[in-house]
Amino acid sequence: MAEVTLLLEATHFAAEKHRRQRRKDREETPYINHPIGVARILSHEAGISDLAVLQAALLHDTVEDTDTTLQEIEEKFGQEVRKIVEDVTDDKTLPKMKRKQLQIEHAPHCSHKAKLVKLADKLYNLRDLNRCTPNGWSEQRVQEYFQWAFQVVNAIRGTNTAMEKSLDQLFRERGVAA
Ligand code: NDP
Ligand code: ZN
Repeated sequence: MAEVTLLLEATHFAAEKHRRQRRKDREETPYINHPIGVARILSHEAGISDLAVLQAALLHDTVEDTDTTLQEIEEKFGQEVRKIVEDVTDDKTLPKMKRKQLQIEHAPHCSHKAKLVKLADKLYNLRDLNRCTPNGWSEQRVQEYFQWAFQVVNAIRGTNTAMEKSLDQLFRERGVAA
């Protein structure tokens, strides 16, 4: 199949899987805007045209946030995409704080392709937090999210200059130590 066809296949799959979900912002933006935006950061800002990375970006939250299994991802999109999605999927059986700590610890051991998706995911979420504070979030919680994201990014520095530059600008604006 042509690469554009495979890319659209991943877009369609993610849209179906996330169809009932909304983001945490006040407008309750459709969830699919996020994975599409993450893939777009990779292609438009990070200069990535690798199909597996872009597919994995589109699919990156399907296993964590929907009924999708890694096996399903592998059957439809192959082993490489499965591995990237696996690397960026938190273990939902663990408490949230533990998951956040493990992201910092595991990030350096992820593949280069998974690190690219991680950086784009953080960049998208931080921009989203700057755009609008989610329902029920205090300023302190937003600030703590920036601090946690800073630690994850620090764990995988040297992955992509463009994205790291944009992330560092956001950290500076928040006064998060660089
Ligand atoms: P969460 O992990 O609960 O939420 C952040 C995640 O939500 C993001 O990583 C993103 O994940 C997704 N998301 C959806 N919509 C948006 C949006 N509009 N903007 C940004 N991200 C969005 O947040 P915390 O890290 O703050 O919470 C960690 C734990 O601490 C939780 O258990 C929380 O309940 C608890 N807690 C923390 C407080 C604090 O002050 N820090 C206060 C109260 C509770 P994805 O990319 O997967 O979509
Ligand atoms: Zn995400």
